[in-house]
Amino acid sequence: MENGSEKWNFQGNKGLNASAISVRGVYNMLMDSISNNENNNNKPLVRLCRVDPTDNPLFRTAPVAPDAIATAAHSFNFNCYPPTVGLPDAKRAVANYLSSDIPYQLSPDNVFLTVGGTQAIDIILPALARSGTNILLPRPGYPQYDARAACCLLEVRYFDLLPERGWEVDLDSLEALADENTVAMVIINPSNPCGNVFTSQHLKKVAETARKLGICVISDEVYGHVAFGNNPFVPMGVFAQIVPVITIGSLSKRWLVPGWRIGWIATCDPQGIFEKTGIKTNIISYLEITSDPPTFMQAAIPQILERTDDDFHLKNLNIMREAANKFYDVCKEIPCLTCPHKPEGAMAAMVKINFSQVKDIVDDVDFCVKLAKEESVLLLPGVTVGLKNWLRISLAVDPSELEEGLSRIKAFSLRYAKMS
Ligand SMILES: *Cc1c(COP(=O)(O)O)cnc(C)c1O
Repeated sequence: MENGSEKWNFQGNKGLNASAISVRGVYNMLMDSISNNENNNNKPLVRLCRVDPTDNPLFRTAPVAPDAIATAAHSFNFNCYPPTVGLPDAKRAVANYLSSDIPYQLSPDNVFLTVGGTQAIDIILPALARSGTNILLPRPGYPQYDARAACCLLEVRYFDLLPERGWEVDLDSLEALADENTVAMVIINPSNPCGNVFTSQHLKKVAETARKLGICVISDEVYGHVAFGNNPFVPMGVFAQIVPVITIGSLSKRWLVPGWRIGWIATCDPQGIFEKTGIKTNIISYLEITSDPPTFMQAAIPQILERTDDDFHLKNLNIMREAANKFYDVCKEIPCLTCPHKPEGAMAAMVKINFSQVKDIVDDVDFCVKLAKEESVLLLPGVTVGLKNWLRISLAVDPSELEEGLSRIKAFSLRYAKMS
């Protein structure tokens, strides 16, 4: 690149910028638009933009979790570097935790510990990427996949999730997208951002389609078991006899500790396909050149997974169910928004903006900026998760805050309503 008399060999990767629309970036932009607002409305801020369960004071992790970490730290036995694939006892505990819901037993060798679900994504995409290959991602989806694919030059192709069918995968369009260079597809179940939980029948169809296409399934189950509606959570690993599955999991959401940065990759693959194709070796090689979750945190995993009582999980599901019900009922009273599917899992929902009902708002980003300025309510524009002119709303907040936020959104919508 020539720039006057200077010559530099390095140059920004434009692909990386294109995928840099991030939840954090949008959050910062909305916060800026509030603080730069001259006619400040002085209303307390209601944050329904990011999903961080610790925003809700009712959500507090199970007491066994900090106890296990304190015990591990005080023992002085876990101050060493961890093994690159993870501590054996922690791997065994995760293997057992996942095996209780699938028809065969995972071995500790199937499990790799990661710095949250995020690093699991960061490892698995380059482990699958080769020159010229592509991956199928859901739309809407989770932006970390797009960003990471851009970093490892993995081409992204999007398949649609169908709101009118409870956000099921559009399997016909998915088949049409794939070719012999397609290596994998990603599903997120329970779904962030959509709030749905896939049925067992649908997951089986996904497995059969992937099998037909010769691709593996990456199942992001970071919200595993966070299901509070009619559909029970079924892990994709149940169908690993049909197609090899990479399961991504984490303590962050179900245990309400996103700051602890503990997650995992599990290869659910009773036929040993990942071994034959060299993917497992790639994962192990990648782990040798990246950082690991802290050793004492890993040491706490067996206690956390084995000793958390059911009451903790049931209480959290009740809180989420109540939030989802309240949200869904109030949403029906807001003419410019439509929620096509009542949230039944994870901690967020998608709503569509009905532009036939509003004036003076051009798109989802405009909606969010005006709402932030006028009502001090933060929502995530759908474009961030791949669906322009939709909005994502976090339900993992204090119930009174959710109520306040919804009533301000309603007032805002009425102010912008088109007269019929
Ligand atoms: C939160 C989240 C992740 C990241 O998990 P962390 O453990 O917070 O790193 C990955 N995928 C989805 C769908 C998520 O919602």
